[in-house]
Amino acid sequence: MHITKAEIYKIYLPLKEPFRVSFTSMTNREIILIKLFDKNGLIGIGESANFDFPFYEPDFNDGTIHLLKTYLVPAILNKKINTIEELEAIYKLMRGNNFSKTVIESAFWHLKSQQTGKPLRKLWGGTKTKIAAAISIGLGVDLKDSISRVLRYLKTYSPERAKVKIKPGIDLKLIAAIRKDYPDLPLFVDANSAYRLKDIKVFKELDKMNLLMIEQPLTYNDIVDHSILQKQIKTPICLDESIGNYHIAEQAIKIGACKIINIKPQRVGGYWQAKLISELAAQNNIPVWCGGMIESGWGQLLNCHISTLSNFKYANDICLTKWYFADDILQKEIPEKNGTIDVAKTDSLFKIDEAKLNKYTVFKITVA
Ligand SMILES: [Mg+2]
Repeated sequence: MHITKAEIYKIYLPLKEPFRVSFTSMTNREIILIKLFDKNGLIGIGESANFDFPFYEPDFNDGTIHLLKTYLVPAILNKKINTIEELEAIYKLMRGNNFSKTVIESAFWHLKSQQTGKPLRKLWGGTKTKIAAAISIGLGVDLKDSISRVLRYLKTYSPERAKVKIKPGIDLKLIAAIRKDYPDLPLFVDANSAYRLKDIKVFKELDKMNLLMIEQPLTYNDIVDHSILQKQIKTPICLDESIGNYHIAEQAIKIGACKIINIKPQRVGGYWQAKLISELAAQNNIPVWCGGMIESGWGQLLNCHISTLSNFKYANDICLTKWYFADDILQKEIPEKNGTIDVAKTDSLFKIDEAKLNKYTVFKITVA
């Protein structure tokens, strides 16, 4: 790979309806895309679907654009980079900002895939072709709205499994309402760090509600309190925000902070790091699944392919366009049937609709 030029895009993809979690709400999905132009004429496309403010992780979209144009892209321009190790070595001194690194990293993999003629799933050592996808349902404006929203989604899409957001005040009654109509639906909840150890009563009650897992109940960068909580409840804790990189994953496993890990490739610094963490977790009998950030179809494709690795055992949060978006930038949507995606059928879908990319671009800059 020999990159001579990069185009950085900020796009606003329209959502079907506002998506609310415990810390924000959005009506358009702001996403950063990059095109890396290789000397040999190939173009690698990468994505970062973060937020416009540092609500989820310390990095955020405009920060990513700044880093890309001032540091990340200049650092790779006109260099010969053949392996992922060579690429990672270039960014070694840079702490955090994993979403920003992943824009470049995912474009690198797209180029590699074109150069070798191998789909990403094969480059990453994926062994499955079919993966499970779970719908993630955001909060309503209050408890009543949240209940009707979740029930409406379940009725409309009849998912095989579902993930529901919770926060203090919108938790036990919401889950009880779901359980009344869907007693056996494989269900898990995601608190996005909205609780503290003092809320143990809520977790003791959730523990009785036949949940697959409770995701990231406590502080976003904590592992110690999670290990204390895990010892008091049977329901597996799944860590998401806390697993910021390989080293933290290692420590969380060591102290028993979780029984499941949600790996968001962007959050851990890329798809290669996601693979390494999934292998570390496998050695410790911790299953993982791929988390979603409501990526565009492009990011969804990448997530589908990493989910073919053998330790991705739970349904993955593949944020399919038909569930969330009013439109997308892929030429063809990812096909899904009864919650299953045949990833082999997505190998040929890595094609952007340039007219739509232009339509939804609100900012573009070229670095050469
Ligand atoms: Mg989560």
